[in-house]
Amino acid sequence: MRSFAYQRATEPESALAARAANADSRYLGGGTNLVDLMKLGVETPDLLIDVTSLSLTDITETSDGGVRIGAGVRNSDLAAHPLIRRRYPAIAQAILSGASGQLRNLATVGGNLMQRTRCAYFTDVTKPCNKRDPGSGCPARTGEHHNLAILGGSTHCIATSPSDLAVALVACDAVVHVREGSDSIERAVPIDSFRTLPGNHPERETSVDPAALITALSLPALPIAAASHYRKVRERASYAFAIGSIAAAIEVRDGVVTDSRIAYGAVAPVPWRAHRAEAELLGKPAGIEAFEFAADTELSAAQPLPGNAYKLGLIRNLTVDVLSKLSGVTR
Ligand SMILES: Cc1cc2nc3c(=O)[nH]c(=O)nc-3n(C[C@H](O)[C@H](O)[C@H](O)COP(=O)(O)OP(=O)(O)OC[C@H]3O[C@@H](n4cnc5c(N)ncnc54)[C@H](O)[C@@H]3O)c2cc1C
Ligand code: SF4
Repeated sequence: MRSFAYQRATEPESALAARAANADSRYLGGGTNLVDLMKLGVETPDLLIDVTSLSLTDITETSDGGVRIGAGVRNSDLAAHPLIRRRYPAIAQAILSGASGQLRNLATVGGNLMQRTRCAYFTDVTKPCNKRDPGSGCPARTGEHHNLAILGGSTHCIATSPSDLAVALVACDAVVHVREGSDSIERAVPIDSFRTLPGNHPERETSVDPAALITALSLPALPIAAASHYRKVRERASYAFAIGSIAAAIEVRDGVVTDSRIAYGAVAPVPWRAHRAEAELLGKPAGIEAFEFAADTELSAAQPLPGNAYKLGLIRNLTVDVLSKLSGVTR
């Protein structure tokens, strides 16, 4: 392991200044992803700027009925908070479906959003990988890709975003608050456009400056989210990343769908908001047929490879099952 310096920041300004002064520095949250990547030689920072003492640990109700969550809030605390459990249960469920109790106690909201892909080539520095080493190639397309993307990938990268929390946040219309540059004011970025698709530059993962500091998340007042649900499919019952997941909420009046929120995990380089499926459902009678058609409409853009085509059926079944349960539809 390379030697590195450590600095504890107590104000966002000093964290931003230290980061701006050193391109090889990184913010340190709980360290549960970054330190692992350092041990593997994937990340080689020469300075870690600890951002866990920035006083960004509050969860507060906002005057417009929403909730603001500091970037330093630990994942366990977010999942356990009454406002989250009551108004956005999919978020609590998504967190509790991930990692382990010990990891969730350490992991922060900011670090969770910025965690890197679990693609096996990305974490193996002996292999080429366009995301880790731009221009070196992407062996996943012809190699091991059973848990990689069927939506939103490019010829340069088909990595999936691993965060469960981010999928639920996308379904709940969350906004990410960031500061960029030492004298900057906070900027609000809708979470749906926070992470970017790989295109020709898989090394770029967000729409903000790579040195941006996440300060908070905000959730709007969203009555439909009070009955939201997160369902995760994985290869063993606990302590495993998703191979497919869904965060969803649906509102049905007189048998007709009047609103919905659907997001998928582990199928794309970003937590995938299913805008097409939502548009397809609006005004349709709630039922198995409509749910299947909505899922198929969303998945019509998929470009599966031989090893991950199973995700088409998985996501279709998840969509039908979760929307049916949420709306009381029986087969
Ligand atoms: C064994 C294991 C199993 C796991 N299983 C799951 C799972 O099933 N589902 C799941 O969703 N996750 C899972 N995780 C991932 C875990 O959720 C992440 O490691 C964790 O959320 C990262 O948070 P952290 O605070 O420790 O981030 P860190 O490791 O500290 O940082 C991660 C990245 O975020 C950046 N960063 C941190 N804070 C900020 C900030 N405020 N602003 C800007 N950038 C910042 C860092 O520079 C770094 O690049 C697992 C992890 C492990 C080790
Ligand atoms: S899918 Fe992306 S992360 Fe995985 S090897 Fe290809 S370029 Fe690297």
